[in-house]
Amino acid sequence: MKFSLEQYLEELKPLINVDCGTYTLKGIEFIANQFEQKFQAMNGWNVKRVDCGKAGIGLEIRNQPDAEHIDIMMIGHMDTVFPIGTAEARPMSQDAEKAYGPGVSDMKSGLLNIVYALRHLEQTVLDKLSICICMNPDEETGSNDSVEWIQSVAKNAKNVLVAEAARADGGLVKARKGMAGYKINFNGIAAHAGNDPEKGRSAITEMAHWIIAINAMTNFESGTTLNVGVVSGGAGANIVPENAQAAVDIRFWNNAEYDDVNTKLHNMAQTPFVDGVKVTIEREAYKPSMVPSEQTEGLMHLVESAAQELSIELNWHAVGGGSDANNTAILGIPTLDGLGPIGAGFHSDQEYLLLESIEPRIRMLMRVLEKLAA
Ligand SMILES: [Zn+2]
Repeated sequence: MKFSLEQYLEELKPLINVDCGTYTLKGIEFIANQFEQKFQAMNGWNVKRVDCGKAGIGLEIRNQPDAEHIDIMMIGHMDTVFPIGTAEARPMSQDAEKAYGPGVSDMKSGLLNIVYALRHLEQTVLDKLSICICMNPDEETGSNDSVEWIQSVAKNAKNVLVAEAARADGGLVKARKGMAGYKINFNGIAAHAGNDPEKGRSAITEMAHWIIAINAMTNFESGTTLNVGVVSGGAGANIVPENAQAAVDIRFWNNAEYDDVNTKLHNMAQTPFVDGVKVTIEREAYKPSMVPSEQTEGLMHLVESAAQELSIELNWHAVGGGSDANNTAILGIPTLDGLGPIGAGFHSDQEYLLLESIEPRIRMLMRVLEKLAA
């Protein structure tokens, strides 16, 4: 591979200088078109557009579209977390070491690294592998409208590589915490706090009991943590509150432990602390945890030896945030993440891409694919 950093950055720039936050359909469409064109310009790739409902479209790109099995599935997302106007306010820029801009490492460079790796792999290697790349439009809000599709593809895959950025120290991601987000609604009965408070049923009192009970479920040792992050409710100090709401975030390593917490919450909703208050629970986001299996360890060794051959130092991270890797790992498919170039500062204006890591990480991805083909 003859690598030109200048050319790479030229190709990256239009992918950064467009607003493509989740549900910004025009921007997502633009990104999808860009990648569709890239793959169509390469020989032997079939690009399918997948309807992801209100999130727009996803791309499913295969070199053996008729094969039932998939040797390697690669995943990357086309959306960012940034609102409309960000691309104009701070378009892609660079200094001697880093490139900056919305999505520069989370994860447009990861997507582009996949393209570069596949562009430069020997055809004889590609011929030995059934490869499927899925680019979804809504990872940043939990992949709600793409998770079914992603999992239906993953079911036929032997290995999954997610090309989110490698960590600042160059590390890859072997484990990710699971997460769940809930909105809990409390509906009581309003009453005048002066005239007839006994007729009221306080939604806020009920919520207060819940907050204490939810905090008590946290287990720092096992890593199951619950956070009541936002609360609201009530209409005035002189009114017994009719309504209250709480937003709760749960993180966990142990999927069974999370299931217990989920069951407890639903049981609590059936038996409110304050008689006459109704509680409803909505789960707005969910990702199971990604914990390496024995097979995953095999894939880790393969990646390690690919890195070693290229004199790249690697370590493995277990991180708190989720990605689409969680959605394929739960199916029992060996899944690793962090196969993009090195970056950090995600979801902020500090986000950067480490320029010197781009080429080595393309080469590493190529070497991993070559080893999987062998
Ligand atoms: Zn990402």
